[in-house]
Amino acid sequence: MSLPVVTPGETDTYEDPLDLINEIDELKKEKDASIMAHFYVDGDIQDVADYTGDSLKLARDCTQVTTGTIVFAGVHFMGESAKIMNPAKRVLIPDMLAGCSLADSCPADQLQVFQEQLRAEGRKFDTVAYINTTAAVKSLCDWIVTSGNAAEIIDRVPKDREILFVPDQHLGRYLMEVSGRKMILWPGSCMVHEVFSIQGLVRAKRNNPGSVVIAHPECPQNILEITDFIGGTEKMRQHVMSVKEPTTFLVATESAMIHAFQKSAPQHNFIPVPGIIASTGETCACNRCPHMARNTLQKVRDCLKNESPEIEWRDYFQQARAVLDKSLLK
Ligand code: SF4
Repeated sequence: MSLPVVTPGETDTYEDPLDLINEIDELKKEKDASIMAHFYVDGDIQDVADYTGDSLKLARDCTQVTTGTIVFAGVHFMGESAKIMNPAKRVLIPDMLAGCSLADSCPADQLQVFQEQLRAEGRKFDTVAYINTTAAVKSLCDWIVTSGNAAEIIDRVPKDREILFVPDQHLGRYLMEVSGRKMILWPGSCMVHEVFSIQGLVRAKRNNPGSVVIAHPECPQNILEITDFIGGTEKMRQHVMSVKEPTTFLVATESAMIHAFQKSAPQHNFIPVPGIIASTGETCACNRCPHMARNTLQKVRDCLKNESPEIEWRDYFQQARAVLDKSLLK
């Protein structure tokens, strides 16, 4: 279990996880709530959740929820997507401050200015956004992709139009290679996938002969070049499940994902690829997303109990919904 992230002014005292789990189970019934947990949140939260998965699976699952309330343990833009996909439900998130460095790297006002510049130059393009964007950005786009469906959606963009891909430059570069389509890339990236150390990966391969490297396409190109299997979180999970022979996998994605891998394919050994600490240049094996780590069992319990914080409906959610619907549900 990871340590809870506490910001100045917040207090967080230790509570027995088993008591918290029992309390959460009771509150779910009392409040008519379902819990959705992204694969990157702490394993204990995944275990109390009714739905777990990557962004694509959870966005689709949201439409199947029958309870009146959804608690989304993930980051803010995921809570927005849950509300957009299911406006009649009350959507709560355990911590309003759980953001995303990747979503933050593409503010809606800057995207709008850039799109206007391109149009003024007479360029015909579709804007394709990775799902890790705010709802305001989604409302400015033509398509939304996840790492799981990106190749298929890019195929649907008419060949006579350019593609502006936001916000992840690494995923965009990878998709250019896979699809053969040229793209204008927004220079954003995820702070977690950005830090994998190529030296650490090479060393881990040397120390684990016969190991297999699996990586998320948000990783930089130098990591993907020596990766054996590239895929979004759900694709990686399916892949490790399909390998029957016990194998050592070196995993280049958020380290909480290892919990889902171990549950799905316990015959294997999973080792997180080391990251690099920017301030010291040393390697470490944490690779935890500090935003996802803001979700704790206490905060899940508290948001159920207090019925807050809640994602409120905004005007631009309607347009974001039209884009999400055509991209994810059709
Ligand atoms: S792992 Fe990266 S992309 Fe995912 S929520 Fe954290 S900062 Fe955002």
